[in-house]
Amino acid sequence: MQSKKRKFIVIVGSLMSGLGKGIVSASVGKILQSMGYSAVPIKFDGYLNVDCGTMNPFRHGEVFVLDDGTECDLDFGTYERFLNLNLNADNSLTGGKIFKRIIEKERRGEFLGRDVQIVPHLTDEIKGHVRMVGEKWNADVVLIEVGGTVGDLENGYFLEAMRQLAVEEDVLFIQLTYVMSISPGEQKTKPTQHATRLLSSLGIQPKVIVCREDEPLDKDVKEKIALFCNVKADAIFDDPDLGSIYELPLLLEKQGMSEVLCRELGIAKKKVEFGEWEKLVERIKNPSKEATIAIAGKYTAVKDAYISISEALVHSGAKFGARVRVKWVETSEVEKGKKPSEVLEGCDGLIVPGGFGKRGAEGKVECIKWARENKVPYLGLCYGMQLACVEYARDVCGLKDANTTENDEKTPHPVVDFLPEQRKITAKGATMRLGAYDCVLEKGSVACKIYGSEKISERHRHRYEINNDYVKRLEEGGLGFCGKSPAGDIMEMMEWKEGFGIGTQAHPELKSRFLAPAPLFAAFLDACLKRQKK
Ligand code: GLN
Repeated sequence: MQSKKRKFIVIVGSLMSGLGKGIVSASVGKILQSMGYSAVPIKFDGYLNVDCGTMNPFRHGEVFVLDDGTECDLDFGTYERFLNLNLNADNSLTGGKIFKRIIEKERRGEFLGRDVQIVPHLTDEIKGHVRMVGEKWNADVVLIEVGGTVGDLENGYFLEAMRQLAVEEDVLFIQLTYVMSISPGEQKTKPTQHATRLLSSLGIQPKVIVCREDEPLDKDVKEKIALFCNVKADAIFDDPDLGSIYELPLLLEKQGMSEVLCRELGIAKKKVEFGEWEKLVERIKNPSKEATIAIAGKYTAVKDAYISISEALVHSGAKFGARVRVKWVETSEVEKGKKPSEVLEGCDGLIVPGGFGKRGAEGKVECIKWARENKVPYLGLCYGMQLACVEYARDVCGLKDANTTENDEKTPHPVVDFLPEQRKITAKGATMRLGAYDCVLEKGSVACKIYGSEKISERHRHRYEINNDYVKRLEEGGLGFCGKSPAGDIMEMMEWKEGFGIGTQAHPELKSRFLAPAPLFAAFLDACLKRQKK
C-alpha cells in the first residue's frame, strides 16, 4: 500500500520549439522543492537516437554527461543545476531507447502470440517507466518534460501515454506557449487558443498555461486565454525574458505558482523558502565587479555547445558578486595569422574547453602558451588539459612537434594518446570513457587546496589521455601531475608551478550547481579577479 499518492506533472510545449521548457520545468521543480516536496525530473525526447552521444553540438547543443555515463540533452544540465540532484539513465527517455526496449522484449518472446502495438504496448512501457522512476526516487512529484512541440509526429505516442496516465494517476498538465505582440500592446492569443484546442483533441486539458511573450501580458489578455482555453485566470503565467534564468522560479512564485500547483495537484500548501537562492539572484542582478573570460572553442558560433561552462561561470560569478562576460574566441583565426595577444585582448582568464579534432587545435596551443607566459589564469577542460600538455612538452621540455595522436598519428612525441581500452573500439555510441571517476589529489597541490579534499569525483567524456611514457619528462620540465586515478595509471589533473594554470581530464562544469559552484571554476574566477587588482 502506498502511504501517499504520488503526483505527476507533465510539461508540454506548444506552437514552437525553443521556448525554454527545460527552464520552466526546472523552475516548477525548484518551487516544489522550496516547499519541502521532493520532485524528480524525467525528459522524453522523440528522436530515434538511443542517447545524445553521437549528436553534433553544432546542431543540438552540448552533450551533457551524468554520473553513470549517460550522454543526454542539455536540459539535464538545467535540471541538475536548479534541483541540485544527480540524475541517471532512468531520467532520460528517448524514442530510440523506448523502441529498442520494446523490440528487444518482442525478440525475447515477451509478447508471444500478440501483435506488438504502439497502444497499449509502447504506451504501457512508458507509463511503467515513469512510475518506476517515481518509486525509485520515492518522489512526491514526478516532473515529466515532453520534448518537441504538440502536434509533432515524434512525441505523439508519448502524449498518448500521458493522456492514459492521467486516467490512472493524479496528473497536472502544464502548457508552455508563446503570446506574440504584433505591435506594442497588441497581444495575440489566437495561436495559443488553437494550440490548446490541439491538445484537447488529444484528450489533454492543461490546468496551467505559461506564456513566453514579447511584453508582460495585460490582465484582459490573460482572462481571454483563461476563458478560451478552459483554465482558471490565476493559472496563466508570464514568462518574460530575464537577465538570469535563475530568476524564473522567483518570478513564477511572485505570480502565485505554488498556490496554483498545490491546488491543482491536491497537495498541502506550504511556505516557499528560497533561502540562499534569492540572495544569489540578487547578486547576479547587482554585481559589484566584472571579469572577461575567453573561451577558445570550436563551436563558438553555437553558444549552447558550451552551456555548462557558461553556467559554471555564472555560478562562480554569483558567489563573488561578479558579472562574468564571455569572449568567444575562434582559434582558427590565430592559425590564420592573428596573434594570441590580439584575440585574447582584454581577457582576465582563458578556458580551453572539451573538444575533438584538428580544427583550431594549433591556435589553442598558441593561446595556452601565451596565457602561461603572461601569467593569465588558465583552465583546461579535457581537451584543454591535453593541449596544455602538448604546449608544455613543446615549449618547455623541448620535445619538438609533440602532439596528441588524435591530430597527428605520426608525431615523434605522442604526449597524448589513446586510452588503452579505446584501441579496439570501433562503434561510436556510448563507447568513450564516460561518467564519474574518482581522482586522488596530491597533498599540498593547488588542486588539493581548491577542492579541500584528497579524493574527488568528476565526470568524463574522452578517448585519449596523457601518455604515461612522457609523464616523467613533463614532470622534470616542471609540470605537476597533481591528480591521478586511484590506481595511479591515468593522469587526471595537471598544474603549472607558476601562475594559475590547471588542467583536468574531466568536465567539472557538469557538476556545477547554482547553490554549489564547481570548485575549479570558483578558484579560476577568483584568480582572474585577483589578477585585475595587480
Ligand atoms: N578529443 C579528446 C579525447 O577524446 C578530448 C575530449 C574532450 O575534450 N571531451 O580524449
